[in-house]
Amino acid sequence: MHLNKYTVSALLILTAFFISGCSLSPSKPSCPGNIPSLDQGIAGYSYKGRPIVYTRIGCGPQTTLVYGAIHGNEPASATLTRQLIETLKQLPDSWRYQHQVIAIPVANPDGLLANTRGNARGVDPNRNFPTRNRINNRQFGMHPLSEPESQTLVEIKKIYPPDRILSIHQPLACIDYDGPALQISRAMAQYTDLPICRLGARPGSHGSYAGVERQIPIVTFEMRPDDHHLPPGQLWTLYGRSILAGISYPQAPPDL
Ligand SMILES: [Zn+2]
Repeated sequence: MHLNKYTVSALLILTAFFISGCSLSPSKPSCPGNIPSLDQGIAGYSYKGRPIVYTRIGCGPQTTLVYGAIHGNEPASATLTRQLIETLKQLPDSWRYQHQVIAIPVANPDGLLANTRGNARGVDPNRNFPTRNRINNRQFGMHPLSEPESQTLVEIKKIYPPDRILSIHQPLACIDYDGPALQISRAMAQYTDLPICRLGARPGSHGSYAGVERQIPIVTFEMRPDDHHLPPGQLWTLYGRSILAGISYPQAPPDL
């Protein structure tokens, strides 16, 4: 085959295009260094062996861990986290190059399926972290990190150390925080009608573990009791920009 200079140029451009990892799909562009800007994996497994799935979006220097349904009877938190993932997929590369989000819609899948606060053996994973204020008992676990669901959150943070954490809950209808997260909470409160509250660092909670003892800002975003009756789009309208504000702070949340 005879290759004229135009054909050669076209081939070189195409070769560079594929070697650089660029994708024809606008929903899966690559980050610098050919790291995919979007992937999914299994962070761990529940007591009954159900996968605890995470989605990683973006490759920026600021990492936020967001999770829902660590309490299985708070299903709106899983829905809102799934809505967050779908929204982040639509944001431009410029935003994804600034941020990395690790999103886990369902941190306690056995509890969500059974509509129970605790996991399959009745332990509250959010009271099972190894903190100074921990209580060993059947409800909180007989020893620290006895539960695979709390272990999973600790393990995923080793892989993707978060600069901040957003823990989504129901039904207390306020924005609580532990550690140095007052400014993030204020930024979030600008975009929703939930007030800021201080519920106190509970024994063995993730707030105590990450916020109080490790000074990682952690916001406990408590939605309303009946929010699981709302369709996902309406849930996102009520709280979505507030969550994006928490991820984006000190920048304003992106316009949608
Ligand atoms: Zn909760």
